Amino acid sequence: MPRNIFYIRTFGCQMNVHDSDQLATMMVDDGFEQTEDVRQAQVILVNTCSIREKVAQKIISQIGRYRQLKENNPDLVIGVGGCLAQHWGTSLLKKNVGIDFVFGPHALDKVPEMISRVQKRGGAIVDTAFRTGITSLNICPRPHNGDLQAFVTIMQGCDNFCSYCVVPNLRGREESRPSQDIINEIRFLVAHGVKEVTLLGQNVNSYGKGLDEGICFSDLIKSIDAIDGLERIRFTTSHPKDLTDDLVDRFGKLGKLCEYIHLPFQAGSNSILARMNRGYTREDYLARVERLREVCPDIAVSSDAMVGFPGETTADFEATLEMMEIIRFDNLFSFKYSEREGTKAVSLDQKVPEKEKSRRLNLLQALQDRHTLERNKAMVGKTVEVLVEGISKNSSKDMMGRTRTNKIVNFRGPEQLHGKTVNLHITAGYLHSLRGELS
Ligand code: SF4
Repeated sequence: MPRNIFYIRTFGCQMNVHDSDQLATMMVDDGFEQTEDVRQAQVILVNTCSIREKVAQKIISQIGRYRQLKENNPDLVIGVGGCLAQHWGTSLLKKNVGIDFVFGPHALDKVPEMISRVQKRGGAIVDTAFRTGITSLNICPRPHNGDLQAFVTIMQGCDNFCSYCVVPNLRGREESRPSQDIINEIRFLVAHGVKEVTLLGQNVNSYGKGLDEGICFSDLIKSIDAIDGLERIRFTTSHPKDLTDDLVDRFGKLGKLCEYIHLPFQAGSNSILARMNRGYTREDYLARVERLREVCPDIAVSSDAMVGFPGETTADFEATLEMMEIIRFDNLFSFKYSEREGTKAVSLDQKVPEKEKSRRLNLLQALQDRHTLERNKAMVGKTVEVLVEGISKNSSKDMMGRTRTNKIVNFRGPEQLHGKTVNLHITAGYLHSLRGELS
């Protein structure tokens, strides 16, 4: 009997990439073998993320192409998971693209069993149930040889219900992992060469809610900081309304906590923030950033912003630009608002025309480019600590690494520096990277 060979295709965000890594680890532990060549696979798993119509169509077309492989391999099993699967559930099977089973984000650990049921009995299976005590949270993706960085899930789900967001409907309510499981996982990763961990969750700042151990996120970070051999700690994503003074103070005090925070602000107008149900005002957000910079003057701040939310007037949009001028983010991920089925924002009036959304996005991105360049140029002349990740993408003669503030630095140096922490003197700042010299 040949072993089951599986192939995973992942669409979407970092959370999904991590889910796929967990899934792959679990499958291998269960006796499956992973391939990078889809034509060799006996099982194809498609992990989906966005439910935007355009992306959904792309995913469906891709699954249709996988189905064609069934012509030469009738025993091929195709499973579809992630947010699209959660959202469409049984109706995904009716799309007639050859799907054998559908699994939601809470059913990752059920995948091997679902494959075996399909192989034995045939017939389609759907498991999109929400569960508590999700077993897959505890699956640690096996580090690849030479991996310096790893993601560690500390919680999942979200209780916030921002009016534009599908996550609470698709990933369920917040659930935190016991701290000892997280610490054990990080120790395991460090023992396999990992030096930097990024703690993952939809809203890491509310970590601990619902756990009996009475722990909060700033306590967890303090415990992780004490792990021998670990050099750097990052986390994502933070909700501004849950960013406590305690956590902010950790930036000034814990040596392994990197001077970088991703803190989505979304909009600079209080009326838009209220329509988005974000739970903070522009003034709250500005005060948080001011405090972060007080305790940690070198901290880099990145953010998310959305333009064209229903009801956003020209004055509201200008308030967003004005807030960017005050804060001067190091980096910004910006988007045009797009409707997500099942969210409250779909029913909001005063929709912004597509052309106007594009105009606003262009203006916002041009402003951010100016700020990013300015922040990067301000690094020139400083000496910074860099974790060397490998050969630079720009030139095979250069190495590249990342500062604690999450900026990429290219520099001339030997390959043997891979995995080492070095001090670099910054000589130039560009839009997407810095240039440095060994000091
Ligand atoms: S906090 Fe983030 S994940 Fe939760 S509803 Fe808002 S945007 Fe979605």
